[in-house]
Amino acid sequence: MSHHDERTFVMAKPDAVQRGLTGEIVTRLEERGLKLVGAKFMQIDQELAEQHYGEHEDKPFFDELVEFITSGPVMAMVWQGADATRQVRQMMGATDPADAAPGTIRGDYGLDLGQNIIHGSDHEDEGANEREIELFFDEDELVEYTRSDEPWVYEDE
Ligand code: GDP
Ligand code: MG
Repeated sequence: MSHHDERTFVMAKPDAVQRGLTGEIVTRLEERGLKLVGAKFMQIDQELAEQHYGEHEDKPFFDELVEFITSGPVMAMVWQGADATRQVRQMMGATDPADAAPGTIRGDYGLDLGQNIIHGSDHEDEGANEREIELFFDEDELVEYTRSDEPWVYEDE
């Protein structure tokens, strides 16, 4: 795999879907040059929610978090590109939209910590991207293809 084949898991949360921001999220990542390689519009059930947010099971907000993420449909996605995990986190902005910089997705669209629009794998948690991709997608649901603008995004393509 070349350096720009890193994959990361991204989700438009229920608030984003309800507010009609799914397309905006896709557009921002797409225009950045990241490549969409998997997508699933779905309803998360209790078990998947608890697995996905397992690292937070001892936190006081865990029940609220599971309730929120199962409260409506989400768009689960896999995006690929150079340093994709960290780059998506930067585009998302701080966890609390109140602290997220303008120009970031949370900073432009959110005001509330519990309803912060988007999930992206944590780049500081080694392997979180691949673990989350595996939790939501079978390998045969991910698509390999070349985007026609790749030579204009990556100098060495
Ligand atoms: P993220 O990786 O930036 O999404 O943040 P975390 O992994 O720390 O937390 C997961 C999600 O839990 C966040 O995106 C928030 O939606 C939610 N969350 C985090 N902290 C709190 C909190 O103190 N209260 C509530 N209600 N939700 C929280
Ligand atoms: Mg996290």
